[in-house]
Amino acid sequence: MWCDVRLLDLILPVRCVVCAAPGEQLCPSCRDALPRLRPPLCARCGKPTQWPVSRCVECSGRRLAFASARAAVAYDDRVRRLVRGWKERGLRTLAAAAADAIVEAIPAPDVTTLTFVPADRSRGLERGHQPAERLARELGERWSLPVGPLLGRTRPAARQRGLSLTDRRRNVAGAFAPARRSPRSVCLVDDVYTSGSTANAAASALRKGGARRVEVVTLARVVR
Ligand SMILES: [Zn+2]
Ligand SMILES: [Zn+2]
Repeated sequence: MWCDVRLLDLILPVRCVVCAAPGEQLCPSCRDALPRLRPPLCARCGKPTQWPVSRCVECSGRRLAFASARAAVAYDDRVRRLVRGWKERGLRTLAAAAADAIVEAIPAPDVTTLTFVPADRSRGLERGHQPAERLARELGERWSLPVGPLLGRTRPAARQRGLSLTDRRRNVAGAFAPARRSPRSVCLVDDVYTSGSTANAAASALRKGGARRVEVVTLARVVR
């Protein structure tokens, strides 16, 4: 059956996207229970570790185009529902809640500009909103940093879900290109860090565009 979820959002009572309690899109107890990531972390890729390390099992031996990646929360079922509500239904207060969680966990990056992983036009424009851009703009307000679109896609995104790490990297390699000249230091914003392949491909394009240092910030991170 066809239905417009945004229309339904207008006529149904607001419910928490995580626990379905009525009242708010993200209720206070679900907000407090988000699985926050805390140090020690791998300095490079942000994976939680036993003690502070400069590289970890997940990122050592990989050529990474970004200097560091940080996420506010672990990507579990609750966070999955939160991200889905925000991405697929365009629930705006969730992007604000995601930005609040990031600002709580991660100090403002030492960069001149924030940018974002561009949405796939064939998906993003259909839904009429750009989740990573919205998150970057919410963060820009909180961190007092300008936000600029610096990247484009060279082709529609292929699905990453269910692919092996090698296939993910291959899938996304060369998927982004600089849309304009990058400032020297940039922070790239996205919703979820899964294998780091997307962040790496996007950071690589930013460096082609002139960035010397790219930091990555996401709401969530898959923790294996
Ligand atoms: Zn809830
Ligand atoms: Zn690492």
